Amino acid sequence: MDHSLIFDFAFHIALDGVFVLNTDGIMVDLNGDFEKLLGYSKSELMDQSIKKIMPRANDENVPRILKQIVSKERGYIEIQLEKKNLELIDSYLMFSFYQPLDLLFVFVKDLTFYKNQHRELSQLKKTLDMLDSYVYIKDDQGRYQYANELTLKLFNTTAEEVKGTKDYDYFPVTVVEKLRMIDQQVLKGQQSSEEIVVNHDDGSKQVYLELKAPLRNEDGSIHHILGISYDITERKRLEEEVRELSIRDPLTNLYNRRYINERLESDIKRYLQKKETFSVVLLDIDFFKSINDRYGHVVGDQILQVFSKLLEKEVGQKHLVGRYGGEEFIVILYDMSHSEALKKMSSISLTVQKTLLDTRNGIKIKFSAGIISIDELDHLECTPKDMIEKADQSLLLAKQNGRNMVI
Ligand code: GH3
Ligand code: MG
Ligand code: MG
Repeated sequence: MDHSLIFDFAFHIALDGVFVLNTDGIMVDLNGDFEKLLGYSKSELMDQSIKKIMPRANDENVPRILKQIVSKERGYIEIQLEKKNLELIDSYLMFSFYQPLDLLFVFVKDLTFYKNQHRELSQLKKTLDMLDSYVYIKDDQGRYQYANELTLKLFNTTAEEVKGTKDYDYFPVTVVEKLRMIDQQVLKGQQSSEEIVVNHDDGSKQVYLELKAPLRNEDGSIHHILGISYDITERKRLEEEVRELSIRDPLTNLYNRRYINERLESDIKRYLQKKETFSVVLLDIDFFKSINDRYGHVVGDQILQVFSKLLEKEVGQKHLVGRYGGEEFIVILYDMSHSEALKKMSSISLTVQKTLLDTRNGIKIKFSAGIISIDELDHLECTPKDMIEKADQSLLLAKQNGRNMVI
């Protein structure tokens, strides 16, 4: 048998190096890859003990390896080798005893890359576990494969148990439906950014901003979905609070002029599309200055507050009341023509003038109001400003004709 063929074969298989030991642990041959791996030339290693390429700390492994040789076993060992420049290489040695020559072939796999990758991966996992956001990976069937610490806490599960579970194990049906639709888009290759609202049984709700992206194979096919979610409940609450503050009048808590304008704009648009009619009422309290003059501004303020509540109640939830400024109010009456609005406002006027707004001082008030219905205007060019101006003209007329009047 031509042993050189065996050497040829062994020395060319795809590993990071091959060397040959005799039963005394002496290197009797090695290939070029092994030279390169350790930074020695072949002549420096030939006829040297295997101890030469092992760090001193690993001295106890030497007898073990030699034992393998002596007992003529096949085997493997994970071990550090020492390069000429004293750097250490994490490596995997596979032994195979070649009986005809009483020699041990040792195949070397350099594990540095894998070890680093493993280290980087566990580093990455640690980092993800420290994040204040939810990170998770689902397969193309929607089964969780990975979830970071925060997600596990939310799901009340463990890294092992989360594997293979699905959204319906953690979320209400309506949410699961929405998540499934998003996942399907992502599996088609789209990235997504969606707000997910989770309503809990106890009436509380949680809002998440959920970013998802596909994870692809080298050939471009999609195998998993990567998701990152942020709990934006508090942010949403603050946004809503700020929004509320920006559209409400602080004294009466009625909608302010800015919001009324926004509403009118969308109401006009809707009228143009669907012919859903509505009327706008501008209302001004009669002789309000005299209340201030007589009872002071504090009482004046209280009257405005009580009147606002009364007006809101009388107008009803279907419609809208805002404070236009000072002692002027604006009412939008939906689904009402001018005459219907006139009827309703006249009735409210009667109620208001009968009501004691301040029992201590016995204060009652009256108001004047001007109405404009969207049907009365040149719709195509109509703006909120136009409507308010027209209503104001009628209001002025009501004032000029003696007040306590709706026109
Ligand atoms: P009329 O509308 O019938 O012509 O008389 P008026 O006295 O109501 O009208 P005018 O516009 O002359 O005065 C409105 C008064 O409303 C003047 C102002 O002091 C008072 N006013 C406006 N805003 C407030 C407020 O926020 N608080 C109080 N207390 N008074 C206010
Ligand atoms: Mg006024
Ligand atoms: Mg007034």
